[in-house]
Amino acid sequence: IQGKDVATKPVGVALLGATGSIGKSALRVLERQRERFVPVALTANGNFAALAEQVAQFSPAYAGLVQECVDAPSSWGRGPDCLVEAATHPDASIVINAVVGAAGLPATLAALQQGKRVALANKETLVVAGEIVTRTAREHGAELVPVDSEHSAILQCLAGRQPHEVRRLILTASGGPFRTWPAEKIAQATRADALKHPTWQMGSKITIDSATLANKALEVIEAHHLFGVPYDRIDVVVHPQSIIHSFVEFVDGSVLAQMGVPSMELPILYALTWPERVPDTGVPSF
Ligand code: NDP
Ligand code: MG
Repeated sequence: IQGKDVATKPVGVALLGATGSIGKSALRVLERQRERFVPVALTANGNFAALAEQVAQFSPAYAGLVQECVDAPSSWGRGPDCLVEAATHPDASIVINAVVGAAGLPATLAALQQGKRVALANKETLVVAGEIVTRTAREHGAELVPVDSEHSAILQCLAGRQPHEVRRLILTASGGPFRTWPAEKIAQATRADALKHPTWQMGSKITIDSATLANKALEVIEAHHLFGVPYDRIDVVVHPQSIIHSFVEFVDGSVLAQMGVPSMELPILYALTWPERVPDTGVPSF
């Protein structure tokens, strides 16, 4: 799907949540990989100015803004339905869902129902409806490929192994900004303290969830649905350096880890090209 022959037409990508942290990273990847991929649909919630800039730069066939905005051109899609319209746009073969929250669910389902690949950052889609989402993907022969760094790491470690060969999935967690704080100090923590993530630059909701470690609980649920592994065989280990993005332990006792600099551009690119890899030097190595 990543277009082995780069001389052929680039693969169309719909990007939901284009103005967010993952959305902007995805556009940097798409820009570098423009011989292989082209953004054909972009959406935002209320940030008209940022979306307008992206539309001017990338000229997608479709743009959609969820919130009312008098300045938005009449040609743009409007309201919550614009997510499904973007996800089902005929020019898009891949949908990157980088919306935050359960609002991303209908678009994920609509894209899967059309047999498209969904590169999923929007973990809430799996937390609220994991069984429905994975069943929809199976029934329509559609691919659900994780963008979340831990799940991308697991996908890379699994590399075609069979379910019966896997003993355990081990997700890594940085431990967040409060890992070394005593409990009394954490009780006084401010929003600004919680937003200072030690290793990742992310949107505010996931950064707060990382400070409380709630994000890791969401990721265990996400891993359970993506890889069909029971909860008692999914563990979490604190790894403050965020260099190992997760491990898979196999039935023979061997453990594979995936490593990389903490940049979401790496798992975003992999979700587009999986199961293959393509040359990309946009993210500086260690
Ligand atoms: P941001 O808050 O930075 O961006 C969210 C994007 O979604 C924005 O484009 C925003 O539009 C749009 N949006 C927000 N609410 C709605 C809504 N109700 N309907 C439609 N669009 C909406 O979030 P992140 O990029 O950090 O995260 C996106 C998803 O990716 C989350 O599920 C998160 O858990 C996951 N993720 C993020 C990582 C990261 O590094 N940031 C890492 C791993 C997973 P607008 O700008 O107009 O408000
Ligand atoms: Mg993660």
